[in-house]
Formats: sequence, C-alpha cells, structure tokens
Amino acid sequence: MFSARILTLFPDMFPGCLGQSLSGRALEKKLWSLELINIRDFADDAHKTVDDTPFGGGAGMVMKPDVVSRALESCTSNKSRIIFLSPRGKTLTQELVKELASEQELTLLCGRYEGLDQRIIDHYQMEEISIGDYILSGGELGAMVLLDSCVRLLDGVMGNDHTVDEESFENNLLEYPHYTRPAVWIAPDGSEYNVPDILTSGHHANIKQWRLEQSEQLTKNRRPDLWDNYTP
Ligand code: SAH
Repeated sequence: MFSARILTLFPDMFPGCLGQSLSGRALEKKLWSLELINIRDFADDAHKTVDDTPFGGGAGMVMKPDVVSRALESCTSNKSRIIFLSPRGKTLTQELVKELASEQELTLLCGRYEGLDQRIIDHYQMEEISIGDYILSGGELGAMVLLDSCVRLLDGVMGNDHTVDEESFENNLLEYPHYTRPAVWIAPDGSEYNVPDILTSGHHANIKQWRLEQSEQLTKNRRPDLWDNYTP
C-alpha cells in the first residue's frame, strides 16, 4: 500500500481535499494511508517554539533544525523518501508523479515562514520538490497537490475504463477537447453550438485520428516546450 506521512505545523489542514472524491474514497477503501505528524509536538520549551530569527539578519523566521529533526526521527524508516516541499526544488511533473506513486512510502515535510534551516536539508539529503514558480505561504498545499496527483494513479483508485495514457502530458501531448450531451447547446445569448460531427459518426478509427490531431494542434500552439519533445 502507498503510505504518505506529512510533517506539518498545521495538521488540521488535512486530509482537506484529499479526504474528498477520488482520493477520499481511496483513503476510506485503504488503497492508501495518510499519517500526520505535528512538528510542534517536538518543541522542547514551554512556549513550543518551532522557529527562530535567521543568522545574518533579514526578514522572517526559520524553522529550527533540532525540532524538525526530532519530528523526523520519531517516524522515518530508512525506506522512506524524504521530500521537502520547496520553491527551490525540482518542479513536479507528471513523469515525477508517476515515479513517486510507485514508492511504498513517502515522507513529506511542509515548510512555513522562510523555510527550513539548511543543515537539516543537508543532513537528511532531502529531495526538494516545487509545485511551480510561485510562492505559497506553506508546504501543505504543495503536499496535497503532490499526493492528489499520485493517489489517482494507484491501482483501483480510478475506474477500470479510465485510461491515463490519453491524459495531458502523456507522450508530451495535451489532451484533446471533450464534449457531452446535449448534442446542440444553446448558450444564454442564443448562440448555437454543435458537437463536432465526427464524434457522433460512430467511426472509432476516425475519432481516434481526429483526437490525435486536436491534441497535436493544441500542444503546438500552447506548449512549444512539449511539442519540441514530441515524437508522433
Ligand atoms: N523564503 C522561501 C519561501 C518560503 S514560503 C523562498 O523564497 O524560497 C514557505 C514554505 O512554503 C516553504 O518552506 C515551502 O515549504 C512552501 N512553499 C512555498 N512555495 C512553494 C512551492 N512553489 N512549491 C512547494 N512548496 C512551496
């Protein structure tokens, strides 16, 4: 089973969206597990201090290495990959998601304030992962994004008829457009929109070809970076 462990100063934020819909049902069905560790429980003073001012001066506070280390030592097993959610990390991609989803166990550390003391990152040789080039106020949303994307790939989480190989980013392509009933949709301003004829033709090979062409067109226009790495 895929087990995730989250170290955070805000355990009440979980399971949050991970407790709903696909990932929530999968959690209930025990297709994956979630353990929460409150870093503050490992503070050793009466005020439960978890952060302090940075050496060298400057704005903000830094999470203390001794406290975070005790939290980690309370739980990590040597088979666990320790991930620090961090804007400096390598960007999460579908390729990395697949790799992470194949692990037995992940330990995710959520930063707050200015982040962690560098020594703890070095000592535990943490893998730093970012969810994109913007700054969040904490790693918790990052941990949720990472886990949500992993959990949907686990066996039994999505229905059998769902195939991930046609989703965006597979084979460096974005997904083709979808349509559903009604076949003719009248927008509030009276405009009439039909479904592309091909999709109601019942001709599976042509539909497949049309979808591929749509995917290629979209990718070429929107994501030249993916398009450059695409091999038909
Ligand atoms: N001072 C840091 C930002 C700290 S934001 C810097 O400039 O790099 C506080 C915490 O939020 C970080 O420690 C990290 O755990 C989390 N965080 C912020 N942005 C993130 C992102 N893009 N991806 C993953 N985690 C992020």
